[in-house]
Amino acid sequence: MTAHSNVYPTKALQDLDAAHHWHPFSDMKSLNAEGTRIITSADGVWLRDSEGKKILDGMAGLWCVQVGHGRTEIADAVHKQMVELSYYNTFFKTTHPPAVALSEKLASLAPAHINRVFYCSSGSEANDTVFRMVRTYWDKLGKPDKKGIIGRWNGYHGSTLAGTSLGGMKAMHAQGDLPIPGVYHIDQPYWFGEGHEMDPDEFGIFTARKLEQAIDEIGEDKIAAFIAEPVQGAGGVIIPPDSYWPEIRRILKERDILFVSDEVICGFGRMGEWFGSGYYGMEPDLMPIAKGLTSGYLPMGGVMVSDRVAEGLMLAGGEFYHGYTYSGHPACAAAALANLEIIEREGLVGRVKNDIGPYLKERWLKLAGHPLVGEARMTGLLGALELVPNKTNPHKPFRDAGTAGTLCRDISFENGMVMRAVRDSMIISPPLVLTHEEADLLVKTVEKTLDDTFQVLKQDGLL
Ligand code: PMP
Repeated sequence: MTAHSNVYPTKALQDLDAAHHWHPFSDMKSLNAEGTRIITSADGVWLRDSEGKKILDGMAGLWCVQVGHGRTEIADAVHKQMVELSYYNTFFKTTHPPAVALSEKLASLAPAHINRVFYCSSGSEANDTVFRMVRTYWDKLGKPDKKGIIGRWNGYHGSTLAGTSLGGMKAMHAQGDLPIPGVYHIDQPYWFGEGHEMDPDEFGIFTARKLEQAIDEIGEDKIAAFIAEPVQGAGGVIIPPDSYWPEIRRILKERDILFVSDEVICGFGRMGEWFGSGYYGMEPDLMPIAKGLTSGYLPMGGVMVSDRVAEGLMLAGGEFYHGYTYSGHPACAAAALANLEIIEREGLVGRVKNDIGPYLKERWLKLAGHPLVGEARMTGLLGALELVPNKTNPHKPFRDAGTAGTLCRDISFENGMVMRAVRDSMIISPPLVLTHEEADLLVKTVEKTLDDTFQVLKQDGLL
């Protein structure tokens, strides 16, 4: 019997895991004491754990499994590719058919001014690529002082050095003396948490103008780019007020800096468009992508490059000293192609926009009536619930931030659904193939979870 056998007892797997496996974003001391949960198989929107429990995957893995789990079509495409050419690099004047086919496909899906893709294996690597690309671009254009990059507090762009720096997670910055010099952060458009004293649209304009102020203070001649997620995902599904992106668009139009739309979560149909920037009518110069590109079946990321940036980088010739062993990996490209074919054939992007998106949203927003919920919001298939101790004063948070959220997350799992907690916001991002029946069940499970959480919080005197 080996550790990856499904018949290995849960406790034995947990002990081996505790002894040898260091988990991402985890407090290993408390995790090892508690024991990990073990997922052994999955199909559609359903996960199964080592105890045989069926769990609704309300997070599509980690925001990535657009087409649902267990698609043999993707596995078959990868198998075929691996038998034919399992690996070759794309350095040294070389390419291979799956990388070419995927690049053409991505160019056809992207807006007309974006026609090229630089490959890597993750969203973090994509943003490290962005970091080097924007600085090199301005350098090539004879403006080496345009180095500064503006991100947003509570934005998330990965956990490598550049990814962490561009993101605005203070706890991450504290580990490793980050951000890297030359990265600046402006306030986020988080109306519920930070702007409720203003009307939402007024707040949207107010936070967008933080970009204008930052550029003007630092100097346009010193700023290379602004990077943002169309909707902040890991920060808590923060959907900006309607006024936000149009005002950012105006500011960017008036200034000569690059706009990087981080599409790692918002891309590939999550918002009912191929890309989240398209949803908001933005025209990015660069688009980091990952996650939904392969639906997580194999690791792959990339940076979609606009003609403007590509031409700038190529203008004077010379090598861009950047790339990864696995850039354009043939098996990952085959997975991406099979995944994109499913998304297209099944019309999943339109389904999010016109069918399952509005269907779930209508039901999700009604959860705002629950005594524990201060706000319910949803766009595409990205949803959040703000848990609050007292509905009559909804913007006053829990005293001990994160306790209610963590409790609710654990109860949700017990009730048979994965819902993630960011502080005291509960967030979902289900697979795009979620059926109406599954959406009904999802909402019913969340209702029960909210009721159960409410009872425990009351018992513990936290309400
Ligand atoms: N950008 C965004 C917007 C993300 O949400 C993430 C991951 N959650 C990343 C980048 C980093 O991607 P990865 O974990 O694949 O490195």
